Amino acid sequence: MLVDPWWKAEACAADVLKQHNITKLPVDPFQIADAKGIMYQENPSLASGVSGCLMRVGDNFGIMYSTRYPSNGFRRFTVGHELGHYFLEGHPEQLFKDGCTLHTSATGFVSDDRFEQEADAFAASLLMPKPLFREAASAVGEGLGAVKAMADVCQMSLTSTAIRYARLISEPVAVVLSMNGKVLFSIMSPALRAQRNLTWLKKGNGVPPSTLTFQFSGDNGNVQNSRTASGYATLDDWFDGPDTEISEEVIGLGEYGRTLTILRAESLPDPDDVVARADGREDDEAESLLPSQRFFQRSRY
Ligand SMILES: [Zn+2]
Repeated sequence: MLVDPWWKAEACAADVLKQHNITKLPVDPFQIADAKGIMYQENPSLASGVSGCLMRVGDNFGIMYSTRYPSNGFRRFTVGHELGHYFLEGHPEQLFKDGCTLHTSATGFVSDDRFEQEADAFAASLLMPKPLFREAASAVGEGLGAVKAMADVCQMSLTSTAIRYARLISEPVAVVLSMNGKVLFSIMSPALRAQRNLTWLKKGNGVPPSTLTFQFSGDNGNVQNSRTASGYATLDDWFDGPDTEISEEVIGLGEYGRTLTILRAESLPDPDDVVARADGREDDEAESLLPSQRFFQRSRY
């Protein structure tokens, strides 16, 4: 059975924060490393795709983080991720078994590996703790503006802040990260997930061609120069759902070539009124279809 990486990570991170008496944002992962006697160092020669690593020699631990990624938020997140491997139950045993002394990480919610996902969830939970994040987010507006403000408050990247925002906010919001017209991942807030008639966007799905995001990211200058755009779409455009209007805000993430989209509904139909999918398909079956395939099917027949 697949275990949600967040449950364990949230609990462990909350425990670490309590132990270190941390009650304010921003949380400093270097301070926690210092308190545990974990050395850390930046390293300009880590391979491309490696954001950091954790070393173990006997009972001594050390963290290296790559200077390849200029974002301060990403480096802090990487240190938080390595701390996850240190603190999470079962991680040191798994990562340093058979005499292994080095674990290399690809942080930032891109890995399919369970230990990497748990360490990412730990980093987000440690550096954007649920109660502190919710309290601060309630005072900074909505949508992309709120995500930018919270990224400043927490000293995190826009991407990891947006993921945390969608997980913790009470409004119906979805966050989509895409590159070259393909979804890298998407996450829906609990209020949006409660709408059971929506088809989830999955990794590898095509960004729906009718959307602002698709048009925006078709111009590489928008992405490279971190431009923003905003407009409107419907839940049908993105999730094969009802014709409910949603706002769509897009920002280019610069040299990484990625685009971040924040979708937000002002109001939604009562989920209890949604009985079943209009087309009678099972949810799992619908999820396996790419939006572009659905578009094709609809436009052809
Ligand atoms: Zn790792």
